This record gives sequence, structure tokens and C-alpha cells, in this order.
Amino acid sequence: MAFKIGLLGLGTVGTGTAQILLDPQGRHPLLQEIEVYRVGVRSLDKPRLVEMSESLLTTDLESIVTDPHVDIVVEVMGGLEPARSLILKAIANGKHVVTANKAVISRYGDEIFTAANQAGVYVMLEAAVGGGIPVIQPLKQALSVNRIHSVTGIVNGTTNYILSRMQTEGGEFNEILADAQQLGYAEADPTADVDGLDAADKMAILASLAFGGRIKLPEIYCEGISKVSAADIAYAEKLGFTIKLLAIAKQDLPASEKGTSLQVRVHPTLVPKTHPLASISGVYNAILVEGEPIGQVMFYGRGAGSGPTASAVVSDILNIAAILKSGGDAAKLHPLLSCSHQDYCAIAPMEELVTRFYARFLTRDRPGVIGKLGTSFGNYQVSLESVVQTGIHGELAEIVVVTHDVREGNFRQALDEIRTLDTIDSIPSILRVL
Ligand code: NAP
Repeated sequence: MAFKIGLLGLGTVGTGTAQILLDPQGRHPLLQEIEVYRVGVRSLDKPRLVEMSESLLTTDLESIVTDPHVDIVVEVMGGLEPARSLILKAIANGKHVVTANKAVISRYGDEIFTAANQAGVYVMLEAAVGGGIPVIQPLKQALSVNRIHSVTGIVNGTTNYILSRMQTEGGEFNEILADAQQLGYAEADPTADVDGLDAADKMAILASLAFGGRIKLPEIYCEGISKVSAADIAYAEKLGFTIKLLAIAKQDLPASEKGTSLQVRVHPTLVPKTHPLASISGVYNAILVEGEPIGQVMFYGRGAGSGPTASAVVSDILNIAAILKSGGDAAKLHPLLSCSHQDYCAIAPMEELVTRFYARFLTRDRPGVIGKLGTSFGNYQVSLESVVQTGIHGELAEIVVVTHDVREGNFRQALDEIRTLDTIDSIPSILRVL
């Protein structure tokens, strides 16, 4: 065999990866030259879902990343440490790396890619975003001749599953989350998914590729779905929208004026039902890229799961093997497959964002309340696209508004004033509209 793989992890993704590599018939012929050489796991006693010699398995993962026979280290163990240290050690030992670990790349990408460029090795991460959906290589290669305006994605299957069920069943977030946990669609600790943190990790990677600079993860505005209520889903539906957790990176100015106009954010969003992302439901993921001159391109598929994610992992292995086989000079990394970013992108503050908003107010049922809302909005140049008085809840009336495009800072100032009005009881929901 020409190329030896050191696999770190034999869980969901590691097993799928080994299954493809050990069964190359009918796939790309180069796979027949790729050997699963060592496999690192935490426990040697666990039953495994893939048939392989027990002698390949070890709990000494460091021995894999330093093994002189290993050509490519495939990190599919997850977590921050020891994954980060093992990736760096593999690079220091001249190994190419394939990883599915968005958490490590979005936090330590700078350190990892700097080390990889110095060592002349590739670090590939197709599986880190969108599972089986090929989106990283298209952004690096086929789409790279475009000026990208925006990348908008549904990149977390758990939250999309919960929101889709809230939409079809009319249930509240907490009940559907609990059921999703029982069915295995949500983790026991769902924080990273429902708070939007996983989507932010993925958008840090996509935005970096689309806009040609590194992204500081803490600068990504991140708001999860736990406050989205059945009432909001129902009102959104009446107004012609569906609510999705979107990860968005958008550059408003032309490339020549690039500065602080790049927005990178994750939040629940009212998506018009006619928009291509509105129909992506359940655990599926989709990423819509808009650029000049290509227009819109959408990638859709399974964002997780053993087989789909392994497909992405093995495609990276194949890419590296193909370069090595064609005599690729390790000191001269292929410019379309390596990371050449040096600088960090400046990300615009949220108050500068210009977007439409949806807000739901509970008001005391007195005459003139809509007029007072309108006056406060007007004081901060917020114009309203629609105002719906939706019903009476005991002593309170419910009013839903959708604004025209407005600077977020102005909208927030108007809300501060509205909160002081004696006719306003509370503002249970504020959501952005795509
Ligand atoms: P998993 O099922 O939990 O498997 C993790 C594997 O790594 C297990 O084989 C485990 O060993 C091994 N491992 C973990 N920590 C270890 C340690 N400290 N020392 C030795 N071995 C260790 O995880 P997964 O779902 O395959 O996910 C792997 C990576 O892929 C993560 O970064 C995840 O974010 C990413 N990813 C996953 C999916 C998906 O659908 N699951 C999709 C996209 C990306 P044992 O088997 O002995 O416990």
C-alpha cells in the first residue's frame, strides 16, 4: 500500500471512515492504495462495528502521530484536548492531517495552519462543516474566482430538527427538545447546539474561506433558539415566514472597500417561505453561497451521521493521496488546498447591522397604544412594514410588528424608549428577518 493512515478515533465518524477505506470496491481506484495502518481509541474492550485486526488498535495516540510510517493522520476523536495537541504533534512530525473537528479548527486554526504551512503539510477539514455536504472544497476551488457577498447556512441539524417539529406540531421548545433527546436527535447536554455555538464554530470556518481572512470566534454574534416560542412560529407562519437558526456571513461593500463591513452572526431568523433555505427541514443542512458573477449556489444534504461525514473525511484523504501520488512537492503546498490567510477579518459590530426585525409586544389594552409604538419607532427612524394586533390575553393585548430595513442600533434605542411606555407590559420576542 502506498499511503498509511493513522486514525485517531473509531466512533461514529471513525467507523464510517474505516468502512469506506476497508471496502474500496466500486469507489475511486486510488482508495485501493490507502491503508488503515493504526487506530487510536480510548478503550480496547469496546465492541467495534467494523471488522479489522485488533492489533491495529492502540490507546497510545501519541505513538500514532509520531510513527514514521504514517503519512496522513485522521483526527476524528473530537473535543479540544488532546485533539489539538495531537494535531500539532502530527504536523511537527511531518504528517498531513484530515480532521472533522470544527471546535478545534475554529479556535486554534491560526496556530494549526501556521504550523502546517511551516512544516509543508496539508490540514483538510471538509467534514467539519455540513457533514457529508461538500462545501469546503467548492469554496476553496470552484467558487474562489467569485467575489462572495454572503454565505448563509442551516448548519446545525439538531436545532433545525427542533424548529421543524415546532413548526409542524405547534409544540413549545422545551417539550420538543426533551423528545429529541429521547429519540437521539439531541445530545444529553444540548448547549452547543441550541445556543448556536456549534453553528458559530462552523460559520467561523466558512466565513474564513469565503472572505479570505481568519475569524476570531468570540467576535461572532451568537444567539440560540431556546427563546423561540410556539407563538412566534405561529405568527411567523401567518406573516409568510418560517423560523430557522441561520449562520450568516455577509459582506455589504464591494471587495475594494473591504473594511469593517463583514457581518458574521448566528441567530434565529424569520425566513420568507419563498427563500431557498425555508424548505430545509428536519436534520438536513444547507448552505447558500451568493457571489459575483455566479449568483446563488446552494449545497444541501446530510449534515451529520457516520456515512455522510466519513464520505467527506475520505474525500480529503483522497485529495492528499492524489497530490502525493502525482509527486507533489511537500515544500510547495498546492495553493488551492492549503491555507494562505495571514490576517484576521474585521467584523462589524451588531449595532451597525441593517436588517428587518420582528417584535412581539404585550400591551395594556388602552386606546392609542399602536400610535404610541409608531411614534417611538419613528423617533429612531424605524419604519414599520406590518403591524398586527393579534388578540387579547387576559388583561393584555398582543401586537406583532415587522420593520423595514433598519440599523440595529436604532431599533434597540426605539425598544428602550418603548419599554418605558406605561401601555407596554413586556416584549417577549425580538427576532431578525432575512
Ligand atoms: P465519537 O462517536 O464520540 O467517537 C470518538 C472516538 O474517539 C471514539 O472512538 C473514542 O474512543 C475516541 N477518543 C475520544 N477521546 C479520546 C481520547 N482522549 N483518547 C483516545 N481515544 C479517544 O465522536 P464522533 O461523533 O465520531 O465525532 C468525531 C469528530 O467528528 C468530532 O470532532 C465531531 O464534531 C466531528 N463530526 C461528527 C459528526 C457526526 O455525525 N458524528 C459530523 C460532523 C463532524 P472509544 O471508542 O474507545 O471511546
